[in-house]
Amino acid sequence: MDKKQLQTAKKRLIELRKDVTGQVDAIKSEERDASMKDGTGDLSGYSFHLADHGTDCNDKERRFITVEREGEILYEIDTALDKIEEGTYGICEVCSRPIGWNRLEAVPYARMCIKCKQDEEEQMKHRERDFFPFQKHSPDEMKEIEFEE
Ligand SMILES: [Zn+2]
Repeated sequence: MDKKQLQTAKKRLIELRKDVTGQVDAIKSEERDASMKDGTGDLSGYSFHLADHGTDCNDKERRFITVEREGEILYEIDTALDKIEEGTYGICEVCSRPIGWNRLEAVPYARMCIKCKQDEEEQMKHRERDFFPFQKHSPDEMKEIEFEE
C-alpha cells in the first residue's frame, strides 16, 4: 500500500468514526427523550401503553443492539487507526498477507483479508450447525467428537 492510499484510508476512518459517534449520540438522546416521556405521569395513555408494551420492549432491545454494534465498529476503527500509526495497517491478522485495496475501500477497518474472513465465516457456520446435535451427547462423547476433528 502506498502513502496516498494510507492517507485516504486514514481520512475515511476518521470520517467514519465521526459518523458512528454521531449515530450513537442520536440513539442515546432518543432514549433519553423516551424515558422523559415515560416519567410525565400522564395516565391518559396508560392502557394504550400497556397494550403496546411488547412492542416497546422489542424497540428498546433493538436500540441496545444497535449501540452495541456501533461500539464494536468504533473499536475496530480505533484499532485500524492505531495500525496506521504503527505501520501495520492493511495486513491480514491471520495470514500476514496484504489485504486487497478493494476490500479496504469497502471496509476500511478490516482486520483480515477476504480469504481469511471467508474461512472464519465458514467456521462460524459449522459451529452454529453443530451446536444443537452436540447437546444430545454426554460430555465424554463430545470430547471424542472434538478429538476426531
Ligand atoms: Zn488472510
